[in-house]
This record gives sequence, structure tokens and C-alpha cells, in this order.
Amino acid sequence: MPVYEFYCRKCKEPFTEIMSVKEHDERTPKCPRCQETKEVEKRISTVHTVTTKKWLTL
Ligand SMILES: [Zn+2]
Repeated sequence: MPVYEFYCRKCKEPFTEIMSVKEHDERTPKCPRCQETKEVEKRISTVHTVTTKKWLTL
């Protein structure tokens, strides 16, 4: 499954979530820090496979 990138505006922290394409379309994940969904935005995904590599390729 792909890994998607999200960003929490509240915590100002990016995080990743593994979910199916369908799930990604249908729901927004919770921020792992504040458990908030409203402040979470989807990042224009650099979809990558699961690795331990840091997501930062900006
Ligand atoms: Zn948060």
C-alpha cells in the first residue's frame, strides 16, 4: 500500500499514513500528535513505498 503524506496545521508537523487509495479519497487521517482531523491537510503526495527513509525530499 502507498504511504501518503499529510500535514497538521495545528502541530505544524508532517506525518505519514499508510492507506489504500480508496481510503485516501474517503477519509482524512488523524494527526498522531493532537488526534485532530480538521487541521490535517493532504500533501501533494510523493507516494513512496514503505521504507525507513525519511519522507523529506523537499
Ligand atoms: Zn496535530
